[in-house]
Amino acid sequence: MKPLLLRGGLVGSRRVDVAIRAGRIERVAAAITATDHEVLDVADRLILPGFVETHIHPDKAYIADRTEGLRAGGPTAQTLVAQLKQAFTVEDVYRRARRVMEAAVRHGCTTMRAHVEIDALVELRGVEALRRLQADFAGVLDLELIAFAQEGIFHDAVTKDLLREGLKAGLKTLGGCPYMDGDQRAHIDWFFETAEAFGVPLDFHADSADDPALLTSDYIAEQTIARGMQGRVSLGHLCMLDVLEPAARARLVDRLREAQIHVISLPATEMHMKGRTDARRTWRGITRIGELREAGINVSVSTNNVVNPFTPYGHPDLLRQALITAMSAHLGNLDQLAWLPELITTNPARVLGLDGYGLAEGCRADLVVLDAADAPQAIAEQAEKLYVIKAGRVVARNARTCELIAGPQA
Ligand SMILES: [Zn+2]
Repeated sequence: MKPLLLRGGLVGSRRVDVAIRAGRIERVAAAITATDHEVLDVADRLILPGFVETHIHPDKAYIADRTEGLRAGGPTAQTLVAQLKQAFTVEDVYRRARRVMEAAVRHGCTTMRAHVEIDALVELRGVEALRRLQADFAGVLDLELIAFAQEGIFHDAVTKDLLREGLKAGLKTLGGCPYMDGDQRAHIDWFFETAEAFGVPLDFHADSADDPALLTSDYIAEQTIARGMQGRVSLGHLCMLDVLEPAARARLVDRLREAQIHVISLPATEMHMKGRTDARRTWRGITRIGELREAGINVSVSTNNVVNPFTPYGHPDLLRQALITAMSAHLGNLDQLAWLPELITTNPARVLGLDGYGLAEGCRADLVVLDAADAPQAIAEQAEKLYVIKAGRVVARNARTCELIAGPQA
């Protein structure tokens, strides 16, 4: 692999050259002399570390055309997808998931942690397809997999064993979904016990609804501390945080911080699904991203669903998620736009515990070069990802052309 030199890019507000060799950032400095490097002119373009997805469902992507969509009083998205899952073949999952991976790479994603559903309906066919993709995308996209119980674990006699089989097959994280079972605490307990037995971190789809009586994140935080799993538990959704009274919310946020829980917001799905039956003040269901960050909790955003009943317009583009976050969470002032990229780069990298992630010398050369001078411009204009670099190799190059046929007079 030929060494690379990114000429004149912007890291923060500094104009620098970035030299890359053997998959790592060799040097970041003004005016580096190219020796054996291939030189890419990125003058005055923003360089960010590669985007990191921590919560996405490639196995059920691109199926919106196989079923009806959501409507008030109609079947839930879980029900609609469950009806289709039984017919999923390994080849079908592979093809659709591969399309997600390719789009994600094109949009600057260099590491992805994806959920794979394991249950009586799809059994381990999703695992087989995603394991193949893990191998096929080696060196292009690091793919980690979560053994995920979308249908709950107490409705049949096979799901728990299948989840264990998934972990034995090498899936690195165990994923629960307490609200799919009647006894949420028993569900959570089983996941903690199984995660301890296998020595894997935990991820929960948690508190997706708006009834505070169903709250589980307080119990998950308590169990995380009791079992010494601080920093190894992540929670997706957490929509309920938004409907708690301020004092109760503050107590919960304290507890989450104490347990070092990672929070992953999924704003595109919430915007499509939540508040369908609200007659007024439609609840948008986005967790309190700004407050969580302010409280010192590691918070990130992720894509979640791609073209299915949960999010028919979903697309694995984290820069788009940054814009959705700005719009949906009151985080669109210039100072907030400036830090929003943390939610799709360094923060999700912490969720996954990635070593050597970032723009410092010695870090892995996973980078995105954006056609913008700074983060607010990149988000507002949804700037093109000019280069996507994985482990020192250009894996995607994008260009956008536009010709104004008629312009102003002089
Ligand atoms: Zn999800």
